[in-house]
Amino acid sequence: MSPPLRLLLDGQALVANWRWLQAQQPGAACGAAVKADGYGLGAKGVAARLGEAGCRDFFVAHWSEAVALGPVAGSLSVLHGVRAEDMPVALAYGARPILNSPEQVTRWRDAGGGPCDVMVDTGMNRLGLTPADACSGLLDGLTIETLLSHLACADEPDHPLNPRQLAAFRDVRGRIAARRYSLANSAGICLRADYGFDLTRPGIGLYGGVPVEGAGTVAVVRIAAQVLQVRAVAVGETVGYGATWAAPRESRIAILNLGYADGVLRQLGPHLVADGARPFVGRVSMDLIAIDVTDAPVGEGDWIELPLDLPRLEAATALSQYEILTGLGDRFDRLWR
Ligand SMILES: *Cc1c(COP(=O)(O)O)cnc(C)c1O
Repeated sequence: MSPPLRLLLDGQALVANWRWLQAQQPGAACGAAVKADGYGLGAKGVAARLGEAGCRDFFVAHWSEAVALGPVAGSLSVLHGVRAEDMPVALAYGARPILNSPEQVTRWRDAGGGPCDVMVDTGMNRLGLTPADACSGLLDGLTIETLLSHLACADEPDHPLNPRQLAAFRDVRGRIAARRYSLANSAGICLRADYGFDLTRPGIGLYGGVPVEGAGTVAVVRIAAQVLQVRAVAVGETVGYGATWAAPRESRIAILNLGYADGVLRQLGPHLVADGARPFVGRVSMDLIAIDVTDAPVGEGDWIELPLDLPRLEAATALSQYEILTGLGDRFDRLWR
């Protein structure tokens, strides 16, 4: 079955974004965060294209994501580490856990697990060992491939937590041996060169997010939705739930196969601009939206494209670029070109 809604994914733009992020930190290898199914684009399609371009370090959140993704070029790391119930898969599967807590470290070592990654928390207070725990001897005997930390405020270049986290990470790096060290996400890559270390881990910038103002990443995702019906609406008649829009003139309204169940939330819909700048009308339904095509030769069965201008949509709504992308549902056909 071919569904009546599509994500049109630009593989060249994806690779161009990866290359741009790589070029910002030329001393570091550039990896890719492909968690949340490649931020909604489809992790397999993303990892295949970036692997072909030379990317060798991939990151997912859960073991279930690692297994669903399958083999990648280079190595795969699991950000959330290992729970007890993950151990059988983690020991057998060709990916590394990123150990986050003393319990995870002990669990991995007691099971005789192989090379691993370790996350140290340098001030975000989310996942990771405290620097004190990391330097207490807890990690003795582990083969650490990558030692990581994560920046809380990299999208605010002047935030004082950035240099504090950098200094804390440098200190830990001087005390714990690992083959490589990694601190920066997309926005971190756009900070000064000394945030790059050996390996960077962009996510949002790869997918057409703009991590900081002026970044050179370009859009990757467009939505295309099929027209289910075109209807004539007389002056003063209303469209949709709540009757929130009334026709100011004799209008032709196209009903598109796309709704909030697909991630086009009610606050997002009105800010999407269909190709040809045809305005959105009324409320977003679960599976449908309406646009005004009075002045356009649009008919039933046509496809309407809705580019996802992430920074503009973020500025216009209360949603982050991350929420908009990862909210895209699973009813789309994901088509790469
Ligand atoms: C999600 C994630 C990334 C990628 O972050 P972006 O802001 O999307 O570039 C990098 N590192 C860690 C630890 C993450 O959880």
